[in-house]
Amino acid sequence: MSECAVKIERDGAIVVSESVVIDGHGSVPTRLRVATHIHSDHIVNLGSSIRSSYRILGTQLTLSWLSVLGYPVDNCSTPLNYGSRVKVGDVSVELVKSYHIPGTAQVLVECADGRRVLYSSDFKRPGERTPVVEAETLVIDAVYGRPSYVREFDDEIEDILVDLVKQLLSEGGVHIYGYFGKINEVMELLRNGGVGAPFVLTPKVYMMTRKAESLGSRVGDYLLVGSREAEEVMRGGWYVYLDHMSRAGRRVRHRASSVVLSGWEFEKPVKKLAPRVWHVAFSDHSDFRGLVRYVTQVKPSRVYVVRIRSNGAEEFAAYLSERLGIREVRVV
Ligand SMILES: [Zn+2]
Repeated sequence: MSECAVKIERDGAIVVSESVVIDGHGSVPTRLRVATHIHSDHIVNLGSSIRSSYRILGTQLTLSWLSVLGYPVDNCSTPLNYGSRVKVGDVSVELVKSYHIPGTAQVLVECADGRRVLYSSDFKRPGERTPVVEAETLVIDAVYGRPSYVREFDDEIEDILVDLVKQLLSEGGVHIYGYFGKINEVMELLRNGGVGAPFVLTPKVYMMTRKAESLGSRVGDYLLVGSREAEEVMRGGWYVYLDHMSRAGRRVRHRASSVVLSGWEFEKPVKKLAPRVWHVAFSDHSDFRGLVRYVTQVKPSRVYVVRIRSNGAEEFAAYLSERLGIREVRVV
């Protein structure tokens, strides 16, 4: 592999200059693996990396959450703050903040010859809540890569969700279902939006929230489901219960409402599926237009679209070369 070469492996691993591997294990032995955040498609084969004695680099929150999720990273973790750099072999690695789930980072690798490789990881609201940096080479996941994947209401969806929860709370408890990380993002949103009701959390989410709080997140009152205090507030009917998406559809208490969060909805921000059951098109990812805006701001001359984490990778790549005039675009 030549200097500053980028290789995308079958499991989605991004290897830069044979010195660092990002969000996969791959086949090229390195000393350092970056975990951009805890979503399952970004921690593929993490156990293999840990067993191979790689250092695992990420934000402190991501590393703490990996530990809660059962990955033995305590003895091999290298926490790095946003904006700080670490040198590995002949490259330096910097984490850049990303607005996705708490702790998420973009990865900027600077090679010995000064060229820069940027991996976007997952993000939304580029140039506004997700800062964008320039790089010659961009590696990107086109999660919503087809031009039809547009949500006209993306900029308002946070306010819409907060308003819906407030309205439902006036009638009884609210049960919200989403993926790990998204749940914590929503808790912050609700607090910032003035929702004061106590949160009732399942054990894993409770532990993740304690870690987030110890690192500065302001969560307000939250209780462990099954505790005496949680039972009391649930009987009172003024609470927000948050749980993993896999448990959506379970029966909830009398007069309580369910809100299911999903990004795969483009027509309407809110749908009522049944009495007291709501579907909110709340995504952690930019839609097609946001992806294009991001690429435009990075100003790359070479783009790799990672097929395994994309939907519509070919269409996205064609758009970048034909409409944005980017010289070299490859789906890998
Ligand atoms: Zn993600």
